[in-house]
Amino acid sequence: MKRKFVAVEEDSLDNHGVAWWRGPLLGKGGSGSVYLAYLKKPKSRNAFYRRVMAVKSAEFSSSSSLQKEKEVFNHLHDCPYILECYGEETTVSKNGQMVYNLLLEYASGGTLADLIRRSGGCGLPESDVKKYTRFILKGIDYIHSHNYVHRDLKPENVLLVPCGSGDFVPKIADFGLAKKVQNTKRRMFDSSIAGTILYMAPETLVHNVQESGSDIWALGCIVYEMFTGKPLWGLNPDESTEELCKRIADRLELPDVPSGISKDGSDFLKGCLVKNHKFRFSVEMLLNHPFVSGIDDTGNELCDRSCCEE
Ligand code: ADP
Ligand code: MG
Repeated sequence: MKRKFVAVEEDSLDNHGVAWWRGPLLGKGGSGSVYLAYLKKPKSRNAFYRRVMAVKSAEFSSSSSLQKEKEVFNHLHDCPYILECYGEETTVSKNGQMVYNLLLEYASGGTLADLIRRSGGCGLPESDVKKYTRFILKGIDYIHSHNYVHRDLKPENVLLVPCGSGDFVPKIADFGLAKKVQNTKRRMFDSSIAGTILYMAPETLVHNVQESGSDIWALGCIVYEMFTGKPLWGLNPDESTEELCKRIADRLELPDVPSGISKDGSDFLKGCLVKNHKFRFSVEMLLNHPFVSGIDDTGNELCDRSCCEE
């Protein structure tokens, strides 16, 4: 299930692009290392690149996942809740190492996982949870309407991009495991399940089914984590991965809904975390759910008419 890549060697920091310099490391995952990147001539107009970007890189021979990610980005390039990809480039360092690079929008706010971690196990205020949830949901809606399933939604793959006045907009990133949805009604047996177990849906673990509903399950896990500051399936001490999978898949082991949240919040969460995917809420149902339906595109709560009519 894990992606494998050969890290770009440290001395390959001399491995720059034609128009950009490679800067310090921002993060590492299963398919690449991500660095800051700066335009060499910041004042010159570059039609494709931005002055500051992120560059996700892997040694060319093990960059198939990254190249696949670029292919997905080609279809998902017009949504404010999805990270932008500016292009791809192959670079060669002085020692001859060939590197494949994806040039990406730089998320200076870090990841949603960092933000949750900074809450020190308390979780985010409900007004922020609502706002982030609506935007992530709109990103998921866009992905699904372009016939893809993300398959690796988790707080580490949601990046925060500043949107003025100290606020951040969450953007879905890391499409290395995304797959095209089968258009045929007959479900194909798909042996290649992917993702991170803590965010994996029961039907994925039991029947290898990874469709749009599995992204909704993962959204439920993310919302839970934003509310509580902790992952939904906390690993019990001494629990093996197999036992954890059994717990997630077990129909009788229901996820606990956090106390102290609004009824709308708890209904929304329960709708995402229905164990049987056939009865799980759809994206459309969730977008119309009162927990998020009253948020506009700037993240503000829409005015409740009754208060204006007085
Ligand atoms: P992987 O496919 O290897 O998991 P990701 O795309 O998730 O790679 O990137 C790994 C980590 O690098 C992220 O969790 C994040 O910490 C950091 N990162 C990735 N892209 C960006 C970006 N555009 N801006 C800032 N940090 C990023
Ligand atoms: Mg990742």
